Amino acid sequence: MQKKRTSKAILLLIAAVIFSMYQTTPAQKKRPKQPVPAAEAKPTVPEIAYKVSMSQPSTHYLEVEMSVKWQQMPEMLELKMPVWTPGSYLVREYARHVQDFESMNAVGALGWKKINKNTWQVETKGSKEVIAKYRVYANELTVRTNELNDEHAFWNNSALLFFIKDQLKAPSTVTVVPHADWKVATGLPRVAGRDNTFRAENFDILYDSPFEVSNFKEISFTVQGKPHRYVVTGEGNYDLKKMAADTAKIVEETYKIFGELPYDDYTFILNLRGGGGLEHLNSTALQFNRFGFKPKARYDGFLGLVAHEYFHAFNVKRIRPDALGPFDYENENYTKLLWVAEGGTEYYSNLLLRRAGLITENDFLGGRSSGIQQLQERPGRFEQSLEDSSFDAWIKYYRPDENAINNQISYYDKGEIVNMMLDIAIRSSSAGAKSLDDVMRHLYVEFYKKGRNYTPADLQKTAEMMAGKSLEDFFAKYVRGTEEIDYDSIVNGIGLKMTVRQNNTGRAYIGADMAEEAGRLTIRSVPAGTPAFEQGLNTGDQLVAVDGYRVSQNFMQSYIGDKKPGDTVKLTLFRFDRLRDINFTLGGNPRREYSFDPVAEPTELNRKLYRDYLNADLK
Ligand SMILES: [Zn+2]
Repeated sequence: MQKKRTSKAILLLIAAVIFSMYQTTPAQKKRPKQPVPAAEAKPTVPEIAYKVSMSQPSTHYLEVEMSVKWQQMPEMLELKMPVWTPGSYLVREYARHVQDFESMNAVGALGWKKINKNTWQVETKGSKEVIAKYRVYANELTVRTNELNDEHAFWNNSALLFFIKDQLKAPSTVTVVPHADWKVATGLPRVAGRDNTFRAENFDILYDSPFEVSNFKEISFTVQGKPHRYVVTGEGNYDLKKMAADTAKIVEETYKIFGELPYDDYTFILNLRGGGGLEHLNSTALQFNRFGFKPKARYDGFLGLVAHEYFHAFNVKRIRPDALGPFDYENENYTKLLWVAEGGTEYYSNLLLRRAGLITENDFLGGRSSGIQQLQERPGRFEQSLEDSSFDAWIKYYRPDENAINNQISYYDKGEIVNMMLDIAIRSSSAGAKSLDDVMRHLYVEFYKKGRNYTPADLQKTAEMMAGKSLEDFFAKYVRGTEEIDYDSIVNGIGLKMTVRQNNTGRAYIGADMAEEAGRLTIRSVPAGTPAFEQGLNTGDQLVAVDGYRVSQNFMQSYIGDKKPGDTVKLTLFRFDRLRDINFTLGGNPRREYSFDPVAEPTELNRKLYRDYLNADLK
């Protein structure tokens, strides 16, 4: 550090001398003005060090001290809090939890003011070193927020640590002062010789590295020579050794796709409250129900979460869609590719479990067909394409309302299905020579390895290269468009057909989604095309009676179940504050069940492709 600064000062001096020589040469004056490169060619980088303390965990305040040493300290230093965190596409306004801000230099306090919702502007008065102190209220345990209490601290740096305007490439260190004898875990590398101090090369890495500080349990395992570990906070019915062994299999299967593990080490941070996961470059934050590790079906759900977040270390953290990195932490980052980043990852999470032998091929196919059933029940599938759903995640997916079922699809759910269909289409048209694995590997090698992000056009081109033919029709209909997916014509290639059973023929229904709470039965959403939609039932209507009988969820099921489509009932309900009677004509329930079944006479190629795909014989 010291050496660098000395040489820079000399360079500046030489530049100044040369500049003044040119200034005095008359011939130079006639030339158009040239920029003076040396003076601004090598701006100094700020030295940033954070200290995070937790002196009173029960108050939920994380205490932050940020020190900035900078030869080019501006007159006004702008400190900014991100408004969102990568992987969770919603503006969350982390600045709202900041309080007790103070700024100072070696001599005393420095003046400051807020200039917008997430920017604190400090008047530096010529100081080369500025310290900012503030506290952040941390009492919300999700994978994208912060929590501190007497059991642990978990935080995302993007929701805790300021960055300096235009200095996202600057390195920094984070020193943690843990409560009592708590241990510190993060994916960031340690600074040798310093207690609980970690280093980040830039802010995309800093903001990508959550911390867990507690008396966590820990188990380590090695895959392909690389250390992996679980860090678990909380008691529950989990088996740490089995968890590590099964996770190692998932990592191994992922390695087989890409041929390398692109990190020095990997940390699974697991909290046994809340739910969900968030992906990072060499770690993930997971939350799961503490007693959700038994029976096997629920444990499979946990492994699915692990596989999803782990696969993201490749798909989205390294194979990056156009707008996803380097990140703009103050605005929405728009991409049409979340259906690959999320839907593709969800597809692979189940595929990895199957390849690792952790679930059966019937588990795999059953799970996917129930996903198809859910998609086919959403009127929104005709309103929103996968690309539009990805693009509008910021205003729609993360903010679903009662009409979401009618005007949205999920880029996770439909994305998973379309990735599956794309995989099968590639396998079929290449006669088993290629698959979606080859698409992923190509994106990894040609984009990640070459420091590029990929676009929707790059993806389609890669898929077509693997399929050996144009997939324009597929992408136009199912990715950019809203056409009904022709499952049969696709899965026939691997010897399967889609069976659709209409089990409820002749059963009457109202068609609104209802919820019962504290004895009140209320309409939660009204899917388009149902009798409820056509006859004017509203979200929020509170059902009181049917044909004069007091209603409950149970009562409705048996009472309406006894009726025939076309029968009329009298619904008594509160809409807002007023009681109403509605004569309501019941419809016929169109609910269908979907399953994958073998075709009648599979060819040898069908059998081979099925075996390649699911590592099992077509029965
Ligand atoms: Zn995900």
